Amino acid sequence: MSLAVVADAAGRLATTTPAAVDLSGVHRTFGAIRAVDGIDLHLELGEIAALLGPNGAGKTTTIDMILGLSQPDQGTVAVLGMAPSAAISRGLVAAVMQTGGLLKDLTVRETTRLTASVFANARPVDEVLERAGIVDIGNRLVRACSGGEQQRLRFALALLPDPALMVLDEPTAGMDVEGRRDFWTAIRRDAGQGRTVLFATHYLEEADAYADRIILLRQGRIVADGTAAEVRNLSSGRSVRATLPGADQAALSALPGVRSVEIRGDRVLIQSLDSDAVARYLLSSTPAHDVEIVVHNLEEAFLALTGDGSPQ
Ligand code: ATP
Repeated sequence: MSLAVVADAAGRLATTTPAAVDLSGVHRTFGAIRAVDGIDLHLELGEIAALLGPNGAGKTTTIDMILGLSQPDQGTVAVLGMAPSAAISRGLVAAVMQTGGLLKDLTVRETTRLTASVFANARPVDEVLERAGIVDIGNRLVRACSGGEQQRLRFALALLPDPALMVLDEPTAGMDVEGRRDFWTAIRRDAGQGRTVLFATHYLEEADAYADRIILLRQGRIVADGTAAEVRNLSSGRSVRATLPGADQAALSALPGVRSVEIRGDRVLIQSLDSDAVARYLLSSTPAHDVEIVVHNLEEAFLALTGDGSPQ
């Protein structure tokens, strides 16, 4: 994998490895719209990170700045220790976008060979087809490829310069389940060899299954950043459910960490940041039985952290 040696303004070689991506205090506005509203993001080499967020959260705007397609109004963007445009011109960064760029009358192999001819030091055609999991369809016309196969072809083309950073903006939008699974299997297998991957997605399960780290955006800001488990826990903790006839709502609401108490007949549903304390109280101080602790799934965390009622 190619990674340029980085020199400072005086020509001294850098002694530390630069971050794959380093955003500091980044803002980007479009008229009155604050598409990116103060983002700090540091991505280490080798990380697989998902930018997750609802429509209009600022994912594409962030990715465009990392790819040098637009500039921040405020703040700095560095990719592998240099300006995005410099990293891209050295072949250190490649992108897989949602659509465009393929000639339908060429075969998969012809497309790859043609694109390889543009690069001074491209990886061998067979190697990138193999890595993208499409070596067996090398002779198929692009027009005959499914949406998922065309995306894997775009991935193969992006692999040609052997980039240190691969950026993917909603790469599986519109694909069926099998196509998405095959696509991510190829990405994951390749990333296991040390490539840094940053992808934007709407699909929670995709972020959960394929990213080591999830960066959750809302209205141009990062509202959560961590592993899928950490993001889940960040939202609203866990729910404790129990059967408790005549439950005392005020007493339950006063327990530490409790956010809400719902009573439905004999069942109580308690949202709490400290589910152990609630369960302990129920079992030791009340006649509650059938006590269950339910861990929120990522979708609930996503809604809690990005919904209208979530904290700013
Ligand atoms: P989606 O998931 O829908 O693609 P996103 O998270 O990628 O959304 P962005 O495309 O980054 O979000 O958009 C963030 C905000 O900035 C939105 O309100 C969008 O309408 C606005 N925006 C983005 N690009 C432009 C532009 N060129 N001109 C005006 N507004 C823009």
